[in-house]
Amino acid sequence: MRLQTLIQFTSMKIIDGKAIAEKIKNEIKAEVAAIIDRDERAPHLAAILVGNDPASETYVASKDRNCKALGITSSLYKLDAKTTEEELLKVIHFINNDPDIDGLIVQQPLPSHINPDKVIEAISPAKDVDGFHPLNVGKMAIGLPTFLPATPMGIVEMIRREGIETEGKHVVVLGRSNIVGTPIATMLSRKGNPGNATVTLCHSKTANLKELCLQADVLIAAIGKPGFVTADMVKPGAVVIDVGIHRISDNSEKGYHIAGDVDFAEVSKIASAITPVPGGVGLMTIAALIMNTMKAFKKEL
Ligand code: NAP
Repeated sequence: MRLQTLIQFTSMKIIDGKAIAEKIKNEIKAEVAAIIDRDERAPHLAAILVGNDPASETYVASKDRNCKALGITSSLYKLDAKTTEEELLKVIHFINNDPDIDGLIVQQPLPSHINPDKVIEAISPAKDVDGFHPLNVGKMAIGLPTFLPATPMGIVEMIRREGIETEGKHVVVLGRSNIVGTPIATMLSRKGNPGNATVTLCHSKTANLKELCLQADVLIAAIGKPGFVTADMVKPGAVVIDVGIHRISDNSEKGYHIAGDVDFAEVSKIASAITPVPGGVGLMTIAALIMNTMKAFKKEL
């Protein structure tokens, strides 16, 4: 086992999410430039932000920056934290009916007096580039073309572009959230490439978690616990995809660093490929959201 581990270590690959996301964005930039050259209007993504959640503000600002850099129109509807559910629904209906807006995201979390399910259901499924509307979730579940949620879609795109084999492999997903764990498990178990995997979906009530992880050819960690996946939970040669994002306080100049759900320093010694945090899955999420915006613009679905 020691020799095998050494061989795996020497051939270990760090999956460069930044480079893959940049490539996707450059492809989209060229496509948008061609659209504008034909004197057509640019694709347009709108975001609604209710209140002042700092993480949400950062994400929306990054989305805005990325869209503009690619020639995509980006508009932000920034609403006061006291906005009522009815007022928010009116803004959504307005955007649903605006033919010059292709995609709409309503940033979560919403203030507690607003029912997120009602809000998601109010978004036109044809503009639901986050892929959270029940109609689009249902289409995903039965394998019909639809908007896939950005983070799992970004992971699948990363797997595709890296040529990671999933057919016949055992994929173990840690975490069953509606935005990451459940959809990635669905996507990889469907027919297709990437896909055709045998998927085990784990959560906080899973017994024998470590034994299941050790069987994984591809291990996807999305549980929201820093450094949870340790080297003794990983089969030598496995592909490890780390979705977690945590801001950890430290004594550096910045006062913090970003870490994932995986103990990167130790797990990278035995994995065949691994995504870093930062620089891995996180950057693919916005790339996937922009891919969905292009689909909405082209009315492909
Ligand atoms: P979440 O909604 O909090 O879900 C966490 C999941 O992990 C739940 O299904 C939970 O099980 C499970 N879990 C928690 N503790 C566990 C344990 N000890 N053993 C096994 N399962 C356990 O999290 P999320 O929204 O999916 O996010 C997960 C992580 O990904 C977070 O760090 C988040 O910041 C990050 N994230 C990153 C991106 C990106 O763009 N890279 C996007 C979204 C999220 P139960 O269902 O039983 O409670």
